[in-house]
Amino acid sequence: MTDATDAVLDSVAVDRAAELIAQATNIVVLSGAGISAESGIPTFREAQTGLWARFSPADLASPEAFARDPARVWAWYHWRRTLIARGGPNAGHHALVSLAATQHLHIITQNVDGLHQAAGSASVTELHGNIWRERCSNCAHRRTARIAEAQGDAPVRCADCGDLMRPDIVWFGEHLPTRALATAEQAVADADCVLVIGTSNQVYPAAAFVDTVVAGKATVIEINPARTPVSGDVDCCLRVSASLALPAIVAALDAGQPSR
Ligand code: NAD
Ligand code: ZN
Repeated sequence: MTDATDAVLDSVAVDRAAELIAQATNIVVLSGAGISAESGIPTFREAQTGLWARFSPADLASPEAFARDPARVWAWYHWRRTLIARGGPNAGHHALVSLAATQHLHIITQNVDGLHQAAGSASVTELHGNIWRERCSNCAHRRTARIAEAQGDAPVRCADCGDLMRPDIVWFGEHLPTRALATAEQAVADADCVLVIGTSNQVYPAAAFVDTVVAGKATVIEINPARTPVSGDVDCCLRVSASLALPAIVAALDAGQPSR
């Protein structure tokens, strides 16, 4: 956790965020690992709790790692799926569902956990794939991941060609899915208000969206307990957890007036 995690909710910033959202007609959310942190899913980059503090990305999330030791990579993703299944969506994910009931809202996420959809968000673009899908490393075969199956965390083989199945996610050194990228670019170009939630804005090319947004015409709200490279350039900063900030913004909007 960051040293700002215990920060108090700033009601002036909540009111400002609610005002910017109320004025907008086309809202885009750019979400990162931080929105799922309070579901018990470690983020990648935080020094104390981030996944990479204990594991090296090169050992686990790259095609080379999978070629070298598929069982180890498979076991790691199996462990992450159990964490996600156990944690489920949190108040931040749920608040975005509430927000979409009254606002035109599209979510672009770097997360692979599927928790926006699990909460009930319908309009979601996944830039890095989804941990609940698996695909063959050789042919076009895909299937839904099953955490409770007999193989446990052992690598699964393709039912069509016998090659190894792998998580249908974008690993380091791989390209982002073309269609998701195009959808995200269009959504960001059309947005008049962008919420940047729980991302360190350091992992490219996803971070480029944030750079584009802060340079553009849309108003930008950042929700993150820690400062990021774009914090100085946004219209409104809520330096608290997403599960605290988002329900407060929804409540302020529901009240139709600034929160007290
Ligand atoms: P990151 O780990 O680089 O950054 C996480 C950010 O979230 C940090 O800036 C941190 O201050 C902030 N944060 C921590 N707790 C928060 C909270 N409660 N509320 C709001 N913000 C909080 O993650 P990233 O920017 O998403 O990029 C890293 C990569 O990690 C991405 O490629 C993503 O695909 C991947 N990833 C995904 C998951 C997931 O699916 N849940 C988990 C870990 C990493
Ligand atoms: Zn196959």
